Amino acid sequence: MLYNQILVRFGDLTLKGKNQNIFLKKLYDLVALKLEGLPLEIEYRHDRIYITLNDCKAEEVIERLQYVSGISSYSLVVKCSNDLKVIKQTAVNLMNNLVTSPKSFKVETKRADKTYPFTSLEITKQVAGYVLANNQFLKVDVHNPEVTLNLELKQNNCYLYNEEIKAMGGYPVGVAGKGLLMLSGGIDSPVAGFLAMKQGVEIECVHFESTPLTSIESAQKVVDLVKKMARYAPKNKINLHMVPFKELHMALLDNVDESYNITIMRRMMYRIASKLALKKNCLCLINGESVGQVASQTLQSMNTINSVTNMPILRPLCTYDKQDIIKISKQIDCYDLSIKPFEDCCTVYLPKAPATAPKISKAIYYESLFDYETLVEEAVAKTNSITISFDSDLDLSLLGLEVREVMAELKKEK
Ligand code: ATP
Ligand code: MG
Repeated sequence: MLYNQILVRFGDLTLKGKNQNIFLKKLYDLVALKLEGLPLEIEYRHDRIYITLNDCKAEEVIERLQYVSGISSYSLVVKCSNDLKVIKQTAVNLMNNLVTSPKSFKVETKRADKTYPFTSLEITKQVAGYVLANNQFLKVDVHNPEVTLNLELKQNNCYLYNEEIKAMGGYPVGVAGKGLLMLSGGIDSPVAGFLAMKQGVEIECVHFESTPLTSIESAQKVVDLVKKMARYAPKNKINLHMVPFKELHMALLDNVDESYNITIMRRMMYRIASKLALKKNCLCLINGESVGQVASQTLQSMNTINSVTNMPILRPLCTYDKQDIIKISKQIDCYDLSIKPFEDCCTVYLPKAPATAPKISKAIYYESLFDYETLVEEAVAKTNSITISFDSDLDLSLLGLEVREVMAELKKEK
């Protein structure tokens, strides 16, 4: 393997002052965590990280880097001494390895070491000339080259690379604090969770499960989605809170006019999620709502649902169209899971004509018809929490129990 380093970039640090230092510290820690266990040397230099590969395969490192938010791009790099002869030979080796058919190229030199005896232009000319003399396929095109050979001269070393490969971007997960993601089994909420993490928000997940009204498979789907999302979490694991929702679900089906079922159900979800968020030190709720997709997502509906809590609610998808959401869902490998056709509590007893402009006063009236406060408290108290890691092999159906029993068993085992 020709390359001996990976250069990681953070992009333009638009953050200023103290925030920039917090960002950098968080990113250094995150990279170290994500690369834990690999035999690497990691050098932290302000807005870059140099990873020396030693005996480690570059692919192994790159595979892990794609899950690190806050990294804007990386390059495979050959590091050599800053002796011009060595640089020229290294450049030839690199280009001969890379170019085996006719291509245009240019050399671009950055010289951080201003004491170096040659100017950038002189270095570029010397290296380009030597490469041309030793590679039959290359010709120079400084305006529109197919291949660029970048040289970066530092104090004692030169770094050579071709491609700058785009990485995840965003902010290091956790730098913004923690939020509670309302996770259904659908397409949208895992994408919302991913975008929140990308923006620096660490997540825990809450799922409202109505087994046995809903199947154990629909709960398994949620576990599997958390596994996929866990690859982006700092320690490759995420806490999942399973809320037993059946009692509340039944009570509202019995008492509430059908057209308000969804509204009241979602008000209950928001109430429970807000309480859990406070318990788990989450500063906001996150969900997969987007304006206008379904009856519960009209702006009037959002108002009536939102009015039960003061917590900030992040809706990363609020202006996305479905095709863009699906694209991201596929990128994060959740799509095939999300489209598995298991019912969740939102699809059981779906009303024929849900109110698209539900009123707060009417919602309060329907809620006065049953003792929801006790049911909400009970649901919070009976919530089962487990930590799910990206490589866990948790299979709920093998246990042959209702979700709440399975979860209780799992907790006992710990
Ligand atoms: P999704 O694809 O995420 O299921 P959706 O377009 O089907 O979203 P809704 O079913 O109205 O829309 O749900 C809107 C949001 O409410 C979801 O994105 C999710 O954040 C939250 N939500 C819905 N059902 C549940 C549930 N059973 N448990 C936790 N959160 C839920
Ligand atoms: Mg849904």
